Amino acid sequence: MRKDDGDGTASEASNGRASADLGKDPYWRNIKAWENVSEAEFMSHRWQVANAVERKGKLLNFLAAVLPANIPASRLDERLKSPTTREEFLLDVEEGMRVAPMAVRLTPHILSVADWSNPLDDPIRKQFVPLASTIVEDHPQLSLDSLHETDDSPVPGLVHRYPEKVLFLATSNCPVYCRFCTRSYAVGSNTESVLKTPMKPSKRRWETVFEHIKNTPAIQDVVVSGGDSYHLAADHLRLIGDRLLSIPHIKRFRFATKGLAVNPIRILDSRDGWVDAFVEISDKGRALGKQVAMHTHFNHPHECTWITELAARHLFERCVTVRNQTVLLRGVNDDVATMSTLIRKLADMNIQPYYVYQSDMVQGVEDLRTPLSTILELERQIRGTIAGFMTPSFIVDLPGGGGKRLANSFETYDQASGVSTWMAPGVTGEEVFRYYDPIGRRT
Ligand code: SF4
Repeated sequence: MRKDDGDGTASEASNGRASADLGKDPYWRNIKAWENVSEAEFMSHRWQVANAVERKGKLLNFLAAVLPANIPASRLDERLKSPTTREEFLLDVEEGMRVAPMAVRLTPHILSVADWSNPLDDPIRKQFVPLASTIVEDHPQLSLDSLHETDDSPVPGLVHRYPEKVLFLATSNCPVYCRFCTRSYAVGSNTESVLKTPMKPSKRRWETVFEHIKNTPAIQDVVVSGGDSYHLAADHLRLIGDRLLSIPHIKRFRFATKGLAVNPIRILDSRDGWVDAFVEISDKGRALGKQVAMHTHFNHPHECTWITELAARHLFERCVTVRNQTVLLRGVNDDVATMSTLIRKLADMNIQPYYVYQSDMVQGVEDLRTPLSTILELERQIRGTIAGFMTPSFIVDLPGGGGKRLANSFETYDQASGVSTWMAPGVTGEEVFRYYDPIGRRT
């Protein structure tokens, strides 16, 4: 049932109550071009979309306006051959984009939480804006489709690897493009180095997916992803939700979206229909005894602002189950203090810190990958410091299609060679999978 009857009154009143308890820092005004943007404008999803930064020219113009003339040296990585002036930095970005597997797209919210006075060390910049000077040699075992998803696709846009669950790639667009995306073979526009295999939203393609699911009674669980469910129109979200709910053997499904992390404004904008469509599906599922959840993707505490807290509270009040999947990234969240703070912030927003993933072995972003030893040490330090049900599982998604395993469940791990071996007896029998630490960063 909708809390909001169409004029937004109910949700605005509820948000007003919540915001009274929260500092309302107009953080977007740190960006000179937005210093006169009112809270009402910034809180408009339409404004967020109109002011998103995508494509090289727009990004370079944005950076030219926000970067200092002299770029401070990195405090975190002494090996960095870093640019020292704004002009050098812009050239570095241009060259980085020439070889990056992912295109660039950034929301005003996420651009506003970055510290552009220190762009070399900033955890937001590192995730979204490539720099040629930070690129390090790819391990020879890396590939664009490291999880071999296309090998397990019975119909285009459906990965069916495990008997009872499937991954439905409904779209290949996202509100932002992450440099380290596992699906860089398909997601976003073509780049100079990667010609994508796109999964455009298409009812005809989706029909073949629904048919496969309907005709395969063993399937109980669907992940609707892409791409990002935030880039599905509200009607498309309803269509997918209703079709899945109508299939008797589907017991549960989740929509994957980074939207809450990178554009929480949409959740609160009562003029936009996306969240109402989501809540409708979630409510219908509950009435049928089926769980519909949102899986989101926060990687750093700086991504959370008072608007994020309001958006998360709005979802909580409307009984939406939200879980988070963090990707472990070197120089972003690979230390105990940052990861612990992120987990606590998520827990405080009633978002379950569900997974922390070891970075997949994807080409072109080796500067962000950590050795396996990092995730093992993080778990060792963090487990026990917060309630068990708010402690994430620390996971490796096995390259080559072995599925997700607890990071500490390896068969062998030789830190000198950086090779760990894994088995998934319940899924692939005696097959052995290997994960390779990045070259030169094995401890
Ligand atoms: S939001 Fe998800 S699917 Fe989209 S680029 Fe980022 S990691 Fe990839």
